[in-house]
Amino acid sequence: MSNEKDMSEEEYLKKHLSSIEGSNDNFSNTDIPFVAQPKVDTTKASDLQYFNFNVQELPCGEFYPTGTLFMVRPAKVKEIQSYSMVDDNNFYDIVEKMNDMLQSCVRIKYPDGKFGTYLDIKDQDRLFIIFLIRELTFQQGNNLVVGAKCPVCSSEMSLELKRENFVYHPVDEKLDKYFSLSSRSYHFSTVNGRNFELTPPNIGLQKAFTDYILKENNEKRTPNLSFLKIIPFMLYGRTTITYEGIKAKLREFEEIDDISFQFLNAAVSKMTFGIKELKKNCSCGEEVHTEMQFPNGASGIFVIHDAFEAYIKE
Ligand SMILES: [Zn+2]
Repeated sequence: MSNEKDMSEEEYLKKHLSSIEGSNDNFSNTDIPFVAQPKVDTTKASDLQYFNFNVQELPCGEFYPTGTLFMVRPAKVKEIQSYSMVDDNNFYDIVEKMNDMLQSCVRIKYPDGKFGTYLDIKDQDRLFIIFLIRELTFQQGNNLVVGAKCPVCSSEMSLELKRENFVYHPVDEKLDKYFSLSSRSYHFSTVNGRNFELTPPNIGLQKAFTDYILKENNEKRTPNLSFLKIIPFMLYGRTTITYEGIKAKLREFEEIDDISFQFLNAAVSKMTFGIKELKKNCSCGEEVHTEMQFPNGASGIFVIHDAFEAYIKE
């Protein structure tokens, strides 16, 4: 298992379960100092100004209807206050606080004129949009950076956590020909005569499954991890599912034939989207890559690490 910090369902579950057990060190605190890089920027946003954003730029962009518009605004102080209380050692809380931020700052408009909510956002797009909100919120700079060394000329580099430096997980090209442009999902037919439609789950489903996992844990039942890995990808068109609905899906899943299970397990394993790593060109021309991580923990995305030093009047 890699230690990438994106939130594929599988990673999410593992991190979630490990945080329940109280042994979570998934978000390294490397204590890299906040680097202020003030720049001249005349596009100062007012609190309520929304910026239109092309969904095609998102890691899961192709899974939204063509013409879908995301409207994103900067975080207000009260939203940053709420986010600032995130428990950096609790993956569940990090996801919850990020979801709250998306709920406040993102509006979705579909090409048919209907509006969606943050629950429609693909789970694996969460982190990207959080960083988009961060860019809009801190337009005067306040870069989060990860240090790296150029393997060619040994220069010390600072890779900023911002969109232009993000590298996404590559999509397995074997999936391409099964993608339907009309439904924006994958359609597979298997040798045993079954048909499956798969699409990355949205935040609405993620929340429903998180509630399910918590309930099972509270009642001392061990969730079926294979089920939790695969089934959220099989709920096309839904933004929620009840506890009883999940139980019914679990009973179906436990009765599934061998070929279908093996196929689905392999197909979902190919559906890792989101931010894989950071990259930036060194002055020597080499493209330097480094692992995606949160300097100063997940709270550091919106809480300025050394605000005391930065803002005290000497
Ligand atoms: Zn170099």
